Amino acid sequence: MYDLIIRNGKLVDGTGASARQADVAVENGRIAVVGEVNGPAAKEIDATGLLVTPGWVDTHSHMDGQATWDPILKPAVNHGITTLVMGNCGVGFAPCKPTDEAHDLMISVMEDVEDIPGAALHEGVEWTWESFPEYLDALDQFPRAIDVAAQVPHCAVRTYVMGDRGVKNEQATPEDVDRMARIVKEGIEAGAIGFSTSRTELHRTREGLAMPGTYADEAELLGIGEVIGDLGKGIYQLVSDWEDWETEMDWMKRLSIANDCQINFVLFSRTRVNGRGWRRNWNTSSRPMRKGRTWYRTWGPDR
Ligand SMILES: [Zn+2]
Repeated sequence: MYDLIIRNGKLVDGTGASARQADVAVENGRIAVVGEVNGPAAKEIDATGLLVTPGWVDTHSHMDGQATWDPILKPAVNHGITTLVMGNCGVGFAPCKPTDEAHDLMISVMEDVEDIPGAALHEGVEWTWESFPEYLDALDQFPRAIDVAAQVPHCAVRTYVMGDRGVKNEQATPEDVDRMARIVKEGIEAGAIGFSTSRTELHRTREGLAMPGTYADEAELLGIGEVIGDLGKGIYQLVSDWEDWETEMDWMKRLSIANDCQINFVLFSRTRVNGRGWRRNWNTSSRPMRKGRTWYRTWGPDR
């Protein structure tokens, strides 16, 4: 007797094979049979007219706050997502000094960048952490229906290290870069899956300032990237306006060559803004990949 049989669904098994009609039987928490399943089960689900798929990994989410208070994580869970990657685009909630002012700044960035209501974040986030490892511990202690993975966000790190200078997007000194790199290293060693940054002027604080880190120079971007190279693990995630495409591509190439690090970046097809320019971006960003660089592109459709 199986624990569960899902019958009559259209199965997409995640191997790249075409969708097919198949039942799935589960026994002791593991898939026991895929295909035609005979025999009874403690529970059966009729999936006629539905897709049956492996869980989805959402590589670009911003549920860093919600993950600390909501065990269900709707609406992600409704879409079949079983793993959420958070801390994208340089935004997140750790590290953060234990002051109302610092908490409010992190919330204001998340509110503006991702359109998540500040009132909900103020109410929900309990700030039981200051450092990134402490944030991971807080996530760890909270039960939830799906898995989460966190990245160390540049905005939080820069503000933590540079204070007002960081918020005003002043240039980082070599000492600032060293301290930021150490914090990113500490975060990845504690379990973060990488580091993220934002280079788009669309991302602003509630007061309309460009998000801390938006204009970070190459010394800062590559200085932080070095720790990923030293550790030999960690993804470098970024979003950009891509106004100066060649310059952005150049530092990204240097980053990935110097540190052999994986880069995950967001591209847009803004046909109304730059016509078919997205095609050029797609094609030229394919070249480093053909040369063996591990680059992942997250595609943002027109809107
Ligand atoms: Zn994002």
